[in-house]
Amino acid sequence: MSTQPPRVLFVDHAAVMGGAEWSLLSLARRWRSERAVTLFEDGPFRQHLNEAEVPVDILPASAAVLGATRGGGAVADLLTVPGILALATRLARQARRFDVLYANSQKALVIGAVAALLARRPLVWHLRDIITADHFSPARRRLAVGLANRRAAYVICNSEATAEAFMEAGGDPNKVRVVYNGISPAPFDAVAEDEVAQVRMALGVGETPVIGVFSRLAQWKGQHVLLEALAYLSEAHALLVGDALFAEDRVYADALRAQAASLGVTERVHFLGFRDDVPVLMKACDVVVHTSVAPEPFGRVLVEGALAGRPVVATDAGGAPEVINDGETGHLVPPGDAQALADTLRTLLTDPIATPRIAEAGRQRALDHFSEEAMVRAVEATLLDER
Ligand code: UDP
Repeated sequence: MSTQPPRVLFVDHAAVMGGAEWSLLSLARRWRSERAVTLFEDGPFRQHLNEAEVPVDILPASAAVLGATRGGGAVADLLTVPGILALATRLARQARRFDVLYANSQKALVIGAVAALLARRPLVWHLRDIITADHFSPARRRLAVGLANRRAAYVICNSEATAEAFMEAGGDPNKVRVVYNGISPAPFDAVAEDEVAQVRMALGVGETPVIGVFSRLAQWKGQHVLLEALAYLSEAHALLVGDALFAEDRVYADALRAQAASLGVTERVHFLGFRDDVPVLMKACDVVVHTSVAPEPFGRVLVEGALAGRPVVATDAGGAPEVINDGETGHLVPPGDAQALADTLRTLLTDPIATPRIAEAGRQRALDHFSEEAMVRAVEATLLDER
């Protein structure tokens, strides 16, 4: 067996930076053999890949393909067929220069499955979503699982929770490999104390505790639970870092502002929008929280909060319990329970002995279990099996 990893063409439909795109950026940057990324839309992801010197191509998808949503049904899917075939034919042409076609999203899986067939290349799907009714319509689940079972050599899942949901939806267990996301500590270690002080000064928070949530604004990410919790805490401020990445989430983003006003906490809530400087912002917080009300597939922010040296509170569902050992390396609270979140935050903010200990244990766990190096090597090992 060769130890040189195969030449890989990574495919992702998205142009904006979500967790899947940040993870693919690390994977493609560190891949030790020829690789390139194809996107179906132009945007910030291309710029990040350019900066990392990863070759990138844009194959623009039709409006019907880009507009297909996770909640869509079989009838809407029919409209996307011509677009899928056209895109898959072009992708197949690119794929012939590589050993493996690697789909990083569900749309990439659909188009990649056809392209892999045309190009006679093996297909690998990196599954970064929990395939349950919380996130996907029955038609979408059937399509994804059916294609994966028939066409994918491997389904790389970003947590055990993601793998279990895939198998419960009928996914073939023999194809499953669990590879946790890995995140480099370097950008966190590089943050200087005075940068942190500047951020806090710009926020005008003085010595007041700051609680940060770092996620795109979306109902299932549960930022509304933090706002509710804030009303129970007399003086803490909240940092909401992230924006509505998808059109359907804009209504929620507006609702959050209205909620802050009706709770009377507007002066203590800072909507920062999407930011590229997450490490310094996390370090400017006293606690990093994750508030998803539906199971989180993995939750990169949990590892990032720990690498920033901050105690992390997450909701007890999906992949979060695999990342955090409750009470040792962070805290888990029931999803949607603002009172429990407020109680946990109050304890963390007032215990000068236990809180730094938990933060340090969380950081150590992040370094030991969620390194970028381990992620890249595990994916390489999976793909070497395939050759
Ligand atoms: N993120 C970011 N800027 C923001 C908000 C979030 O770069 O304004 C990053 C965050 O640091 C994390 C990723 O987006 O790396 C979100 O990944 P996660 O797995 O937590 O959630 P997903 O987007 O995959 O649902």
